[in-house]
Amino acid sequence: MTKLTINKYAAKKISQGIAVLDARDFPGNSYTEGFADLYFEHQFVSKAYFSRQNKGIGWTVTSTDFSQLLTDAKNKRKTYAQDSSTTAYRIFNQDGDGFGGMTIDIYGDYALFSWYNAFIYTLKDEILSAFQTVFPEILGAYEKVRFESKLPISSHIYGKVAPEKFIILENGVKYQVFLNDGLMTGIFLDQHEVRGALLEYLAAGKDILNLFSYTAAFSVASAMGGAKSTTSVDLAKRSRELSEAHFKANGLSLDAHKFHVMDVFEYAKYAARKKLGFDLIVIDPPSFARNKKMTFSVAKDYHQLITDALPILNRHGKIIASTNHARLSRIDFLDELRKGFGTQKFEIISEFRLPADFATNPADAQSDYLKVFVLEVK
Ligand code: SAH
Repeated sequence: MTKLTINKYAAKKISQGIAVLDARDFPGNSYTEGFADLYFEHQFVSKAYFSRQNKGIGWTVTSTDFSQLLTDAKNKRKTYAQDSSTTAYRIFNQDGDGFGGMTIDIYGDYALFSWYNAFIYTLKDEILSAFQTVFPEILGAYEKVRFESKLPISSHIYGKVAPEKFIILENGVKYQVFLNDGLMTGIFLDQHEVRGALLEYLAAGKDILNLFSYTAAFSVASAMGGAKSTTSVDLAKRSRELSEAHFKANGLSLDAHKFHVMDVFEYAKYAARKKLGFDLIVIDPPSFARNKKMTFSVAKDYHQLITDALPILNRHGKIIASTNHARLSRIDFLDELRKGFGTQKFEIISEFRLPADFATNPADAQSDYLKVFVLEVK
């Protein structure tokens, strides 16, 4: 194992529990790709590996024994495995499970691996072999390559081939997913508690508007939770067909459930002109978006979404404001929301973070990237 002496800045962060290694703490590229034992003032600090990725230049790791790491991860999620009404969830989440750079999701009988850097990809055979021993019940697997390379971004990697599209369950609701078409899968698993709340108590009897709806998962959860109507808005043409499939899978008639392929800002203007009103508006944009007319960034522009939603929100209406932007802190997100409300009074009714299967590193706020607030106008 390569021994590497680190400086006091790196040692301090590691002692605080931060697992991601920051390029600024390793000046002059004083590391080589691969595993290393880190030392500070002749004391062993941590095992780590180096590999440049979107976030940082590597990770400290708690172990390099993948059978152990995967067994621990599986044991942490026993309640998910035992719950037959939910068949899709995360089974391994980066530094939350002791080894950053990799996530593994379960979709029914299949697993989906996401690789975030080139070095972990070189460990793939070892990881898959350990995985197949620890998870013999998984029949086949796919991967997403989430680092710069010439590899295909999505491939089948072992075992049974999944149907092009198939159904998973979450809280008893059916969703259609696909594992081998780009990076997305038809559902964002990190939102299952928010969908659970819509299903159980937030949506009943309400007229709901779902902005940036993608496959309308929030709308389907709402409809199954007794919403009077849902309206889903997304710019992507393909989202209409994928959304309708979710509704049909649950035997829901589309009469009370509308879908608009359009820009959300245009829709808000249209709805205000038509004097439409909603009891609950879900706003879950991508962190960054660009179209022909404009660029959007959650950190700078989220307030505008709130401002545009207020005229079409009924009295005592609620907004579910969500972002998965890791570099926007909870406090800064709340500031954006306050800016959007301006003089309009509102109250925070409840808050959601990542669900338990998305194990986070408690020392690193950025690993707990999901921020969702349920707000009620006064
Ligand atoms: N809320 C969704 C996930 C949103 S993903 C869910 O829970 O599943 C982001 C979506 O925003 C994408 O489907 C993209 O097509 C859409 N999008 C990006 N910019 C948009 C815009 N200006 N107007 C409408 N949709 C937009």
